[in-house]
Amino acid sequence: MGYPRIEVDTLKIKENTKKMVFECKKRHIKVVGVTKLFCGNKKIAKALVDSKVDILGDSRIENLKKLSSFKLPKMLIRLPMISRVKEVVKYSDIALVSEIDSIKRISKEAFKRKKEYKIILMVDLGDLREGIYFEDEIRETIKEILKLKNINLIGIGTNLTCFGGVIPTYSNLSRLVNIKKSIENKFNIRLDTISGGNSGTISLFNKKIPKEINQLRLGASLSLGIGLNDKPIRGLNNDTFKLILEIVKIKYKKEKVIGICIRIDGIKAKDLTPFDKSISVIDVNNDYLFIDFTKAKKRYSVGDKIKFLISYKATLVAMTSKYVYKDIK
Ligand SMILES: *Cc1c(COP(=O)(O)O)cnc(C)c1O
Repeated sequence: MGYPRIEVDTLKIKENTKKMVFECKKRHIKVVGVTKLFCGNKKIAKALVDSKVDILGDSRIENLKKLSSFKLPKMLIRLPMISRVKEVVKYSDIALVSEIDSIKRISKEAFKRKKEYKIILMVDLGDLREGIYFEDEIRETIKEILKLKNINLIGIGTNLTCFGGVIPTYSNLSRLVNIKKSIENKFNIRLDTISGGNSGTISLFNKKIPKEINQLRLGASLSLGIGLNDKPIRGLNNDTFKLILEIVKIKYKKEKVIGICIRIDGIKAKDLTPFDKSISVIDVNNDYLFIDFTKAKKRYSVGDKIKFLISYKATLVAMTSKYVYKDIK
């Protein structure tokens, strides 16, 4: 196997997942294990399944298709495209939705397939990414949804910390709970699920979280042990994904020893933290990553490998790049 290489420690991901599933169970919260960070890789997904997540979720239907052999329900966590509705209904069981036109198309396809398709209607609590913002529009949409065949509205949900940077609080999640209650009263229906966000919502565990929140969609916390604002979550492993680059040049320049590794497009200097604390990343330029070896404790030569911890964004870039070798342990 060559370089650049990303090394994935599935045992550490399993440990993270077991801990989070335990913490969520205590609070009667079901876990959607989000697989988008590792492109639906089955070996990593198995770590989540073995750790007893309740649902597998991904933003790409291609990834959910790869996970077909797992018995767990599959959730599409990105708004479905009308042009992909056939695959959506075939390879997933639940979707996060906000557009009545897409829901109608899902209903048609689900009817054809004789499948009851579940949906969670997204409510925008101010983050402006997905979901319906105005409460009268929520009610209008639900009125339409309830007329549709083969569509089961199982609940409502929200997504925070993504676009508008709105952070989860007891108060904004309580608003979601109140919206759920008012829908149940108005339409005389029961909504089982309140999907209260992503790994950012874990930050409320040691404060207060409305007890009605009973589902979280967790990706970064399980995969990288990080939560709100990419901060490490205490007790979880952060060294689950490691990037390994090879030195292609190393020379004395002025008073410094500067080395160069081959870098991956889209990964920036600030995304990388070398395990060897005596060396430091200087910057990137096109294909190259420049490293300062002046204070290095060991002697490095051309061909040596450097190991880095990487950010969430860089992990996603590396995992989706065909130029990076994946070593899944
Ligand atoms: C990616 C994503 C998640 C998971 O977010 P993490 O921060 O990785 O836990 C949850 N919900 C939606 C809609 C997502 O796109």
